[in-house]
Amino acid sequence: MLRIRNYINGHYHDPISDSWLENVNPATGEVYSLIARSNQQDVELAVTAATTAFPVWSAMSTKERSTILMNISEGIQRHFDDLALAESNDQGKPLWLSQMMDIPRAIDNIAFFATEILHTHTEAYQTGLGVMNYTTRQPLGVVGCISPWNLPLYLFTWKIAPALAAGNTVVAKPSELTPMTAFLLGQICTDAGLPPGVLNIVHGLGAECGAAIVAHPDIKAISFTGGTVTGKSIASVAAPMFKKLSLELGGKNPTIVFDDVDIASVVKSVARAAFTNQGEICLCGSRIFIQRSIYETFRDALVAETERFLVGDPLESETRLGALVNEAHMHKVLAYIELAREEGGRVISGGQRVTLSGRCSGGFFVQPTLIEGLDAACRVNQEEIFGPVATIIPFDSDEEVVALANSTSYGLAASVWTTNINRAHGTAHKLESGIVWVNTWLNRDLRTPFGGVKHSGVGREGGTEALRFFTEFKNICLQF
Ligand code: NDP
Repeated sequence: MLRIRNYINGHYHDPISDSWLENVNPATGEVYSLIARSNQQDVELAVTAATTAFPVWSAMSTKERSTILMNISEGIQRHFDDLALAESNDQGKPLWLSQMMDIPRAIDNIAFFATEILHTHTEAYQTGLGVMNYTTRQPLGVVGCISPWNLPLYLFTWKIAPALAAGNTVVAKPSELTPMTAFLLGQICTDAGLPPGVLNIVHGLGAECGAAIVAHPDIKAISFTGGTVTGKSIASVAAPMFKKLSLELGGKNPTIVFDDVDIASVVKSVARAAFTNQGEICLCGSRIFIQRSIYETFRDALVAETERFLVGDPLESETRLGALVNEAHMHKVLAYIELAREEGGRVISGGQRVTLSGRCSGGFFVQPTLIEGLDAACRVNQEEIFGPVATIIPFDSDEEVVALANSTSYGLAASVWTTNINRAHGTAHKLESGIVWVNTWLNRDLRTPFGGVKHSGVGREGGTEALRFFTEFKNICLQF
């Protein structure tokens, strides 16, 4: 059986303990590879390699680093088909989605930061006659990148690309639920000419291998994407060590539909925002607020649209929703649907586990589910479910919907659907959210700041913000 081994100092290694975890294909329920169960000793090896590589990598010109990173981006492109299939098998998402979204975005992430470093500048201030200030930006050293399971290579590369481009060396850990594409990336990096030790990828459990990265005294910064509870625990370790910390955490995102929209087209976008990737995207709109005058018409159209979404084998082209990432997550999602019933909600579409025949008979599938009749303050409307479950809630006024939308502890993303420009800007400005889309969803420009407010995170990724995070500013004041 294939073994997913650590990539340290440019080579693949077994974990020192020789312990392995089982890797399950969530669409079939079958174990299909073994994952290195790394611990503090493996992290130590990775940190040593990264520390040794740092002086050479950080001293390279931006042009040289850019060229190597572009080689990596092109390497991902060359292995496109294998990576897309690997992502679908590991995560459960439809193959067409990893071909359309995950792997193209991984290619773009690396190319974006490879070229961005060719265009950045630093600041200079003339303070008075004979006094100049200028600001340098230096890489931090060895940094840690920890990524989740929902968009595996997409989010892994979103972190390592700016870290490497800025001149840092990296110890990175993908989620143990979806390690395959990060494992394959190691060889692509070697083939691209990345010097040994610049990127080190260790696999294993968050509480063991992830925690060892966070606590390592020689790792200067932690860039983490994952759940809010994990983020809090990471901050409690990293903050007293004065590490730089970027936390991209959970969401409970509102989708706000005003009564002036073209219902037929907006319904399609709202359903897509709720159920893409089985609802396992931190940006999915899981609370759908519909203005009362169109509530019933919109609800019925949304139910009809949702019922068209085929749940099936991720490798079939007509499948709209694949498998949830693992059995435990499927049971968590089903438990929230049960909780919704207990809290007084009516399941108006879906609500059940799906059992397929043939190859996928042991897989973890759930119908796209719509629930109405729940209070905005109930647990189902307050807690992140991270699955194919959305609630619909009527509202009357603009003020009311802003208050409802803001009534959770999260603040990652929101979408607003209206043809009224005053409403669009007015609502967008009042929402407590790091990102607001108006009449669109998941429309990303990699130059824009990305991140959440409240319990959805601390700091911003993307564009210049990511390069700022992975560098330390130094101001030099000169009198002459
Ligand atoms: P987790 O928080 O469970 O895990 C994220 C990563 O952290 C995994 O690699 C995990 O390893 C690791 N980890 C877990 N515990 C620790 C620890 N104590 N120390 C260090 N590392 C640890 O999140 P999920 O993987 O379940 O991802 C889903 C969550 O991610 C959702 O809440 C979602 O909203 C959020 N998310 C946020 C995004 C954003 O940009 N704001 C984007 C995408 C997802 P392992 O899995 O091996 O245990």
